[in-house]
Amino acid sequence: MKGTMKAIAKQKAAPGATLVEVPIPQIGNGELLVQVRGASICGTDVHIYEWDEWAQSRIKPPLVTGHECCGHIVEIGPGVTGFAEGDLVSLESHIPCGLCAVCRTGLQHICTNLKILGVDTPGVYADYVKIPAICAWKHDPKMPIEIATVFEPMGNAVYASLCEPISGCSVAIMGCGPVGLFATMVCRAAGAGPIYAVDIDANRLEMARSFGAHETLDAKNGEEAIRRMLAGTGGDGVDVVLEMSGAPSAIRTGFKVLRKGGRFTAFGLPSKPVEIDFNNDIIFKGARVIGINGREMFQTWYKMAGLVRSGTLDPRPVITHTFALTEFDRAMTTMRSREGKVGKVMLIP
Ligand SMILES: [Zn+2]
Ligand SMILES: [Zn+2]
Repeated sequence: MKGTMKAIAKQKAAPGATLVEVPIPQIGNGELLVQVRGASICGTDVHIYEWDEWAQSRIKPPLVTGHECCGHIVEIGPGVTGFAEGDLVSLESHIPCGLCAVCRTGLQHICTNLKILGVDTPGVYADYVKIPAICAWKHDPKMPIEIATVFEPMGNAVYASLCEPISGCSVAIMGCGPVGLFATMVCRAAGAGPIYAVDIDANRLEMARSFGAHETLDAKNGEEAIRRMLAGTGGDGVDVVLEMSGAPSAIRTGFKVLRKGGRFTAFGLPSKPVEIDFNNDIIFKGARVIGINGREMFQTWYKMAGLVRSGTLDPRPVITHTFALTEFDRAMTTMRSREGKVGKVMLIP
């Protein structure tokens, strides 16, 4: 497709973002051109916007950013089968090489040569985005745009929660940002309990309660939170910890409340290395630590589609704000201020 489009880009190595007019991406073999219908903001996008150390080391401006979206296919590259113009798709943001040993043994989502959409390649905060067909997930045409928009971040929560059985398990969800909130919904829908939601933000705890947490605990009072979770599990501790915050204190609290032989699921990214009590928290406890990076391609997507189709999971209440793509600065201000109840922030091109 010829012409130009509006996009939000990191134009130079500095904080902020710029509304730009750039050429529509030209697709090649195995690629699709998608007209973006809905996008959403991830913690990663906040790091890029704020231009923190991680962003400085990883992002090469100028770059169109954003990696969570859905849209309609408007152009199909040579060699692509199984897609038609007009199909509604969500995009998997992890772009695998398909050829390395990791890909070839079924772990494409952590490919050795992994590229991330909107981090390593031009992203979705634009009217159009190009994507390898392998990363497009086709929806029923009746799928609501809001749900399709957040499939990628909801996938983090579905993968983290359901990577092993969770039905009937007690769970501590450390951190109630959007992915923690999605996880609360998934755990509740899967029949976990009691579900403890732990965060420093009262609004987020209130949202977690409304999405199915049985008990909410203030992370600012860590000792009390540990005491309550141990008391609620007969002194044993919880079967499963979902660490969604990356906060060192939450990681340590998570290990303290994990029962012997339990599952510690690590998703939140600490900003620097974290010290933990390896002997007592992992070895003597017989803990199983599972790292969650992205979503399994595409086992998680099939699970998630089934949960949505059956009416078990509806992520829309987590989307608390919607802005036009051109109001990106306002959307970022809302996302970063966390004033009031801020869950997922959505953008419409
Ligand atoms: Zn993300
Ligand atoms: Zn690979």
